[in-house]
Amino acid sequence: MTAMAPDYHIHTCLSDGEGEMACCVERAIELGLPEIGFSDHLVPPSYDHEGYGIGLDRLDDYVAAVLGVRRRYPEMAVLLGVEVDYIPSTEDEMAEALARHRFDYVLGSVHFVEGFGFDETRNREHDRWRQVDEIYRGYYQLVRRAAASRRFTVMSHFDLPKKFGYRPAEAVTAFEDEALQAMAAADVAIEINTSGLRSHPVREMYPSPDLLERARRLGIALTFGSDAHKPDEVGSHFGQAVALARQTGYESYLRLSDGCEVPLP
Ligand code: ZN
Ligand code: FE
Ligand code: FE
Repeated sequence: MTAMAPDYHIHTCLSDGEGEMACCVERAIELGLPEIGFSDHLVPPSYDHEGYGIGLDRLDDYVAAVLGVRRRYPEMAVLLGVEVDYIPSTEDEMAEALARHRFDYVLGSVHFVEGFGFDETRNREHDRWRQVDEIYRGYYQLVRRAAASRRFTVMSHFDLPKKFGYRPAEAVTAFEDEALQAMAAADVAIEINTSGLRSHPVREMYPSPDLLERARRLGIALTFGSDAHKPDEVGSHFGQAVALARQTGYESYLRLSDGCEVPLP
């Protein structure tokens, strides 16, 4: 049973997903989701080695494609989002690209710590993982800076470094707290991202219940995202995601079409 929460984290074949936008919208209609948003990857060109992003030169096509499915499926509210890598040295370049269009929201993501793409499958056994604690600390410092930059609506997959099962030896609580506090101060929402449950060795949603409860205590708003890379992953495990939200004390989520708090389904 899938609870009816909006899915704001969906990738398509315009970045590294496999499906067409139309198929994702049809899946959302079938599930009865209240609204959805596309969030293909926008990666600074100097970091897009594998070509997993939309590409800055194709951003206009991406926007046109989202607006196209929005017109074609009036029965589903389709938002124009994007998932942007936060890399301090590329901030201006990305801001310039984003300013060309009116995005309904921007997901902020940290996938690189000092140039190391820590969540890429090919890096799963990389030497850099010998310094797990450093990766975690560097990661949360970047999340804090990303939130403080006020360029993002939502921070995605808050505890992503756990993806391959590496855990810090020393607690990184202070770093997590600083990141959460920066989000609260800048009114940046947190996302329950169900992709960790599907394929990654970690088999847990992002973030952990403990982190989500701390986010809730700070008054951080909540959104949901499947991080679908195929149409049949849209809305996946949302029943569990809503249960996690309730378990951690949330009673509402943030609807990105109008910025309203809506009671959990
Ligand atoms: Zn992706
Ligand atoms: Fe991501
Ligand atoms: Fe994503």
